[in-house]
Amino acid sequence: MKKIAIVGAGASGLAAAITAARCGAEVCLFEQRETAAKKLLVTGNGKCNFLNEDQWAGHFHSQNPALAEKILEELPYKELLDFFEGMGILPYSRKGYLYPMSGQAQSIHMALIETAKSLGVLFCCSTRVEKIERCRGHFIIHTDGKNSARANALILSTGTRAGTKIKENPGAALVQSFGHHIIPFTPALCALRSDGLICRYWHGVRTQAELTLLVDGKAAASEKGELMLTDYGISGIPAFQVSHLVAPALREKKNVLAHVDWLPGIDKDALMRFLDNLSVSFPFRKVSGLLYGILPVKLADSLIVEATKREEELKELGAHMMSWNHMSVSQKNAIIKNIKHFLLPVMGVNDFEHAQVCAGGVPLTEIEIPACRSKLDNELYLTGELLDVHGDCGGYNLQWAWTTGIIAGRGAAKT
Ligand SMILES: Cc1cc2nc3c(=O)[nH]c(=O)nc-3n(C[C@H](O)[C@H](O)[C@H](O)COP(=O)(O)OP(=O)(O)OC[C@H]3O[C@@H](n4cnc5c(N)ncnc54)[C@H](O)[C@@H]3O)c2cc1C
Repeated sequence: MKKIAIVGAGASGLAAAITAARCGAEVCLFEQRETAAKKLLVTGNGKCNFLNEDQWAGHFHSQNPALAEKILEELPYKELLDFFEGMGILPYSRKGYLYPMSGQAQSIHMALIETAKSLGVLFCCSTRVEKIERCRGHFIIHTDGKNSARANALILSTGTRAGTKIKENPGAALVQSFGHHIIPFTPALCALRSDGLICRYWHGVRTQAELTLLVDGKAAASEKGELMLTDYGISGIPAFQVSHLVAPALREKKNVLAHVDWLPGIDKDALMRFLDNLSVSFPFRKVSGLLYGILPVKLADSLIVEATKREEELKELGAHMMSWNHMSVSQKNAIIKNIKHFLLPVMGVNDFEHAQVCAGGVPLTEIEIPACRSKLDNELYLTGELLDVHGDCGGYNLQWAWTTGIIAGRGAAKT
């Protein structure tokens, strides 16, 4: 019987273990934490968004997107649903985002662990793999308990430090010891950071808006949805979705700006007409007061104060104290510009601990496609976030973990 060692009992490691055991292999899972797949329990805010009905390949990002697509095509979405249904997990769809019907990440966590155990997978938790050697056709796995184990095939499923307090990426040294390279890991699916003073005023506001990331003045990505405004910048799903583009652009010394349209449903002329008409009924109401019906109060105030500071003409007149009727056309345009074309300098993104995933990882050119087998050792497989692929918010990162885990488990179990 083929002996397979898997380092990392997270999402992809468990999918690999179940698949390899079903193919008849003897599987041992090494996990440094006290229990398997702790990260899974916090996914999707404790509900685990484990797949998505929208299978557009553009939801996955990599330096080699065509190779990522080939791997994803190897395991159609329907097969992934069957994989979970076979363990008793039925999906519930919210706008295409799939969650377990129970509404609890715990269901997926339990299903994976119980299934693996029922197939005889051996769990070695609280066991950190420190070093792996190749010796006479075997892998010798050295752990922090000074124990060692032997295996015929090895699957590295170590994930990344995203969402943890760990100071280094756990699998980097192990995979590099086989000669693999790593495209530097950077935090992704996280908030955008700015030093703009306005953040102090708008802190705590949640609002629907359209966010576009401008890199050297060009639109790099755009997302609509709920923004969460913080004292250090912009959070919320639209910010998460564009965040992976920030670090590479800043590394190349490019100028990065967040462009926000706070009222994407109303065009600039309609907004001007709305304010003009309203000011007829309320001629003495301050500008900010006119906006209270269409923007959160704190945001309306912040935008007016910001416009007042930015535009010389408004500054002189103290625009936030003025009524709409007393403004010139250019002053009105300056206010409207701040609502429809607001610009915030982006200085960086949140740190690894506050990111959901990492961009970067082992280049896909270093593995066989779609087998996920290393080109440097034909009994070594790599899975999940350790590879240079990350997905949008919406279940795509777990889809990548399940897909690569299942493919690697099948491949490694072959004799
Ligand atoms: C807060 C949060 C919410 C998220 N929500 C979602 C979501 O709803 N949907 C979605 O698709 N994705 C979500 N993600 C991302 C998703 O969880 C990851 O992309 C996915 O878990 C990666 O799977 P993996 O197998 O590569 O790594 P992981 O699941 O991180 O597993 C790696 C495991 O390897 C272990 N390990 C590492 N090194 C060693 C070593 N040397 N020895 C022994 N063990 C080791 C680690 O302890 C870990 O348990 C979320 C992430 C976070 C942080």
